[in-house]
Amino acid sequence: MDGNQNGYTIEEVKRRCPVASRMNHPEDTVIRIGDHSVGGGSFTLIAGPCSVESREQMLEIARSVKRAGASMLRGGAFKPRTSPYEFQGLGEEGLRLLLEAGQAVGLPVVTEIVAPRWLPLYQDVDVLQVGARNMQNYDLLREVGKLDKPVLLKRGMSNTLQELLLSAEYILSAGNSRVILCERGIRTFETATRNTLDLSAVPVLHQMTHLPVLVDPSHAAGNREYVAPLALAAAAVGADGLMVEVHNAPEQALSDGPQALLPNEFADLARRVAAVRAALTGTSKAFP
Ligand code: PEP
Ligand code: MN
Repeated sequence: MDGNQNGYTIEEVKRRCPVASRMNHPEDTVIRIGDHSVGGGSFTLIAGPCSVESREQMLEIARSVKRAGASMLRGGAFKPRTSPYEFQGLGEEGLRLLLEAGQAVGLPVVTEIVAPRWLPLYQDVDVLQVGARNMQNYDLLREVGKLDKPVLLKRGMSNTLQELLLSAEYILSAGNSRVILCERGIRTFETATRNTLDLSAVPVLHQMTHLPVLVDPSHAAGNREYVAPLALAAAAVGADGLMVEVHNAPEQALSDGPQALLPNEFADLARRVAAVRAALTGTSKAFP
């Protein structure tokens, strides 16, 4: 028997996920975004604020994360908030400010899409993020599956890895082969952290699928003190990259300030991640 003794077997994953599994695609998928490659040995560093808040905020953060070696800029414009009374994002104006900042520093941009009806506004966005809360929004998955644009698919907070792959399968089977997976922490009985980062997801997904696997330590931790150690562990366990929230004034952030790294903390983390990568591969190539 292959697979593990506690859960589903690799055979089951192959049967249910003919496109996402390694059955018909044994080699790693590499996704080109601008002049950066995701997967296949490259390391991807996505950084930026939880939410786009202003032009000045975006430009300042974009410049700092670019200087630190980020490969892409993130920032939410349409925010899926747990409470309807919390900041919902700047919407279309937020997308414009994100694109402007990305262009100013020469970084591709990643931002969340919460419903198919907003897709016409996302034409210039480089990577569409489908967030944890929408991992099983099958209409949305089918719609982004029809596009010629990479999709960053985050694991739902209460979803298994097989369910994550089945959601990827919706996108892939609709014709879009450029899917990047992201582990961002799951709900457990533990309350000391916002979520529990499931680092086993990385080697398990690498066995199950050819798709690149990123880790978001920010939403897993919920507290900036834990972000760097979790990020280093993710690099050590073989993640293809990280998505990290960074803010220039976290105490004033309109969302997720407590988990945001300051720009200098992100720069330190980027250096330490590069050192972990070099130790693993025996090369000093930081973020190819
Ligand atoms: C985010 O990345 O901004 C976000 C909302 O994350 P998640 O969907 O993982 O909660
Ligand atoms: Mn956030």
